[in-house]
Amino acid sequence: MNDEESPGGADYRCGFAAIVGRPNVGKSTLLNALLKRKISIVSPKPQTTRHRILGIVTRPQAQIVFVDTPGIHTDERRVMNRYMNRSARTSLADADVTLFMVEALRWMDEDQRILETLKDNGRPIIALVNKVDKIYPKDRLLPYIGELTRRADFKEVIPMSGLKSINIDQLFETVARYLPVSPPHFPEDQVTDRSERFMAAEIIREKLTWRLRQELPYGLAVEIERFEVSEDDKITIGAIIWVERTGQKAIVIGQGGLGLKEVGRAARLELVHLLLKPVHLELWVKVKDNWSDSEAALRQLGYDSN
Ligand code: GDP
Ligand code: MG
Repeated sequence: MNDEESPGGADYRCGFAAIVGRPNVGKSTLLNALLKRKISIVSPKPQTTRHRILGIVTRPQAQIVFVDTPGIHTDERRVMNRYMNRSARTSLADADVTLFMVEALRWMDEDQRILETLKDNGRPIIALVNKVDKIYPKDRLLPYIGELTRRADFKEVIPMSGLKSINIDQLFETVARYLPVSPPHFPEDQVTDRSERFMAAEIIREKLTWRLRQELPYGLAVEIERFEVSEDDKITIGAIIWVERTGQKAIVIGQGGLGLKEVGRAARLELVHLLLKPVHLELWVKVKDNWSDSEAALRQLGYDSN
């Protein structure tokens, strides 16, 4: 490798890019597509992403540290929502460039509200028009993009699809141009700042979120009690699923324990894929009153790092 190609060469760029947009536009899906593996959990339900998650993508010309932000919530009465808002604002303040994601052919009040917050923040904004895989023929996008460019002074507008990996490489190259010249912040094989333990909790929470009906996921948290690697390289994970009410406990467990069994099976399969080792998973369901509205309980469950 010559100097230009090696990380830290004279033209190497590195910095933070925050991915912002209303729930369900596809922020976490993009992060997973960029990393070519899954680090941020995805579901069709809003509020799936609660923590700030870094996705680090290292290429010969640049390292981009993508920040997947939790949504910004208008209702600040619940401690959990305040936590998520704080986390989203910190990510914005730290970013070199903001990626404002919208859904092709859709514009909602919430998109407008988020865009106003970004304009106040004063960082360069790149608009990402996601889910273009759903649009036929593609020229239907043109008037939408025209309108979008009038809403703010975007540096770039990139039509893309995280799910179908459309325009992902172009996106990387474009974003890199807005980062400072700098050596990489992270080792090139590091993909996230989160531990395997954290990822395990998130995967279990994702499986629960998929399985359960709409209102329940917000009352759920997963705590990893045990994470042990044995001498023969098998991993034993013990996790507690915290719910807020006894009735919710019954729903999570399901008839004859089938619900919990199904969640355990799906989570275990994915954990094997992530950790590349055999996994033994034990799940318990416990009730903690109103945990999502208690500062102390949130801290205990790990909602304090950012
Ligand atoms: P987030 O809330 O912004 O993080 O959104 P997610 O990444 O969790 O995605 C929300 C939903 O949109 C999921 O059902 C995704 O599969 C779907 N989705 C995400 N990106 C695309 C895309 O490019 N095309 C299509 N058709 N669906 C997508
Ligand atoms: Mg998300």
